[in-house]
Amino acid sequence: MVMVARLSRLLLKVAREEGSMKADTELDVVIVGAGFAGLYALYKMRSMGYRVHALEAGSDVGGTWYWNRYPGARCDVPSIEYSFSFDPDLQQEWNWTELMATQPEILAYANHVADRFELRKHIRFNTRVNSACFDESAKSWRVKTDSGDEITARFCIMATGALSEPNMPRVEGYESFKGEVYHTARWPKEPIDLSNKRVGVFGTGSSGIQAIPILAKQSKHLTVLQRTPHFTIPANNKPLTREYIASVKSQYARIREEARHAPEGLCGEKYSFGGREDGRLDESAPSVKDSTIQERARLLDQYGFGAIRMFSDLFTDVEANEMLCELFREQVRRIVNDPKTAEGLLPTGYPMGCKRIAFDTDYYATFNRDNVSLIDFRAEPLECLTSNGIRTTAAEYEFDCLVYATGFDAMTGALMRMEIVGEGGKRLNDYWADGPRSYLGLQVAGFPNLFTITGPGSPSVLSNVMVSIEQHVEWVAECLGYMDAQDYTVIKASGEAENQWVQEANAVASQTSLAAPSCHSWYLGTNISGKPRMMMPYVGGVGEYRAKCDKVAKDGYAGFIFSS
Ligand code: FAD
Ligand code: NAP
Repeated sequence: MVMVARLSRLLLKVAREEGSMKADTELDVVIVGAGFAGLYALYKMRSMGYRVHALEAGSDVGGTWYWNRYPGARCDVPSIEYSFSFDPDLQQEWNWTELMATQPEILAYANHVADRFELRKHIRFNTRVNSACFDESAKSWRVKTDSGDEITARFCIMATGALSEPNMPRVEGYESFKGEVYHTARWPKEPIDLSNKRVGVFGTGSSGIQAIPILAKQSKHLTVLQRTPHFTIPANNKPLTREYIASVKSQYARIREEARHAPEGLCGEKYSFGGREDGRLDESAPSVKDSTIQERARLLDQYGFGAIRMFSDLFTDVEANEMLCELFREQVRRIVNDPKTAEGLLPTGYPMGCKRIAFDTDYYATFNRDNVSLIDFRAEPLECLTSNGIRTTAAEYEFDCLVYATGFDAMTGALMRMEIVGEGGKRLNDYWADGPRSYLGLQVAGFPNLFTITGPGSPSVLSNVMVSIEQHVEWVAECLGYMDAQDYTVIKASGEAENQWVQEANAVASQTSLAAPSCHSWYLGTNISGKPRMMMPYVGGVGEYRAKCDKVAKDGYAGFIFSS
């Protein structure tokens, strides 16, 4: 049996080399998406000798950094860590110019990776995958695209991104607005002239918080249309010096290794936020409950928002969290000149951290500009859009342009937009109707040979995503290598292993403030109407998760079922 399988693999290899296999449509591996996950999966699968292609809806590589071109877009973890570690030469040759790089610079990096490793010719751009169905007799996936093509592949890797499906809320009267409309995640490639425009921005999450200070400078007048105030702290971004870059490069191997095992996938030392001077939490951080009012005021004077990061119990103790929220609010009051506007910007009623804390440049100071105003929908709820702007319970406001910084149908959106059908006609959309389920965020029971990169059930968006992407792709690559060595053709997650993982992930989440009843966030799916409430990413941390995945592999891929 083993001999026969080896022979057939050899014949397959010969057929490939002779080009007798159909050009693009019969593959070993098909990858959906050409963001960082798709690029690395493509590189890895090619280096293992597989016949592989990636299909990408956009016209070029980069994913997040291709689509999110809004002014102010940049990463909020240090670029030296938000980059690939898999190739030592790549990390030595690339130079980041700022601590947290801008979108154009990150997109240039994605392009550099694609060119350097000659990946582009294996990607089909402007190609959206509409469906993927598992053919049980052929033991392969049939993937259909929006151009009507069908591609078959033994394995399907969904590198479709956790934050790639924009949320465009259908507010009442949505269609009637006659002005210009933009979404931050679909920002045009050409510059937009706002100098003579009255601009309204819906959304004050990370995207809105990054865009608002820049859009304010570009617009005639900018109005922030706020449903929920966010917690945001200064990014403390800065240019990188040659000495700093040289120092990082000489220690890159160690920095990367530490990041791989750290809870957030970040090395997390002085590189990241300039050290304790900027308010970096360290291991000796005290509990806020042990501090006096005077001590807290002194820390606020000295460190501003950084004072919050001095304490250890932000995520572990609800009362401590509220004390830190108050410290935060006090700092907002200190920055924003107009007391009514300041009050409108204060986050209340939910713990800090249950929505992802944003990192900004001059967000609160922007509200001191003459051409910026705030409409707080908590004080005057939005009624509808009109042909000229919006109407709230208090008044009508006119705009020439509306910007939606309203986020994403996160983690499941891109996957559920496709029709994915597994064994026995099982539809992913039905199976996930009550919330996503997976084994380790890598596979879903009933969907053999299909892998998700940074899918729900993995640390994903709760980490430096580059580290999580590398970990997933490498795990999948090793798994395929194991299957080849054992002459297995099919892998599937067992229902029992999946159940246990879902329970474990839920139990870990329930111990944190991220899933507190007062929390509403895209992590929990509550930003999308009708989406079931469930903590989608695994909260246990990158290092711990990696150890679990490694153990599963070491134990012969425990929880997975193989067949030939
Ligand atoms: P993506 O980059 O989202 O790529 C997925 C690709 O799949 C997209 O190009 C999409 O077009 C394509 N696709 C989806 N569905 C289909 C389909 N059906 N057919 C064909 N193609 C399809 N993470 C961090 O760790 N640090 C940060 O600082 C950070 N900043 C961010 C800033 C913004 C504005 C956003 C939106 C996200 C940020 N993230 C950050 C998260 C970011 O998404 C990840 O870091 C990373 O870029 C994800 O890469 P990916 O390849 O997994 O997904
Ligand atoms: P988000 O965090 O989901 O924020 C969306 C905003 O839109 C929220 O303020 C939300 O209000 C508001 N909103 C949604 N629907 C609305 C409606 N119908 N009317 C009025 N307001 C509405 O989305 P995001 O800002 O795009 O960020 C998503 C994630 O992407 C981030 O958390 C982060 O992981 C990543 N990101 C990172 C960076 C970075 O700094 N590197 C930048 C951008 C994005 P509610 O809070 O009331 O729902």
